[in-house]
Amino acid sequence: MTAEIPTFLAHAIALETEAAERYDELAAAMAAHNNPEVAELFRRMRDFSRRHAQSVSRRARGHGLPALKSWEYRWNAPEAPENAPHAGTHYLMTAWHALTFALDNERRGRDFYAQAAAETQDAELRALATEFASEEAEHVDTLETWLLRTPKPPAGWAADPDPPVAAD
Ligand code: ZN
Repeated sequence: MTAEIPTFLAHAIALETEAAERYDELAAAMAAHNNPEVAELFRRMRDFSRRHAQSVSRRARGHGLPALKSWEYRWNAPEAPENAPHAGTHYLMTAWHALTFALDNERRGRDFYAQAAAETQDAELRALATEFASEEAEHVDTLETWLLRTPKPPAGWAADPDPPVAAD
């Protein structure tokens, strides 16, 4: 095995672990906004990410994964591909926003794995990365389907109907 594989596995574990944390937050936000269906979808997505992180950890066992510092991860974006920025859990976020946001993350995850597969000369790494990319592609499909049946919020959705009263 080449040195590329442990580095790739370390990235995959970080990516999936962070994704699980974000899905947990999104699920909580949707539950708080009386959207149990979408909350349940995000719990499922969270469980996929957790299971994926666990199975990658099992594969990684005995490979001596590098303990990467945050700045040593080679994402093509400033954050881990599936790591949704915090603004995504806006307290007034609608199901449509949450799904769009999750879809974006899944696409970045898929692209990250696909790119790793495309760039490597290592056949074992290519097979792993291709497998991971196709799992992410399934998540992308699931979210796209949900998004299609979710109404787009009206303009002004974030306007607070009952803003705090400014004291003079
Ligand atoms: Zn995923």
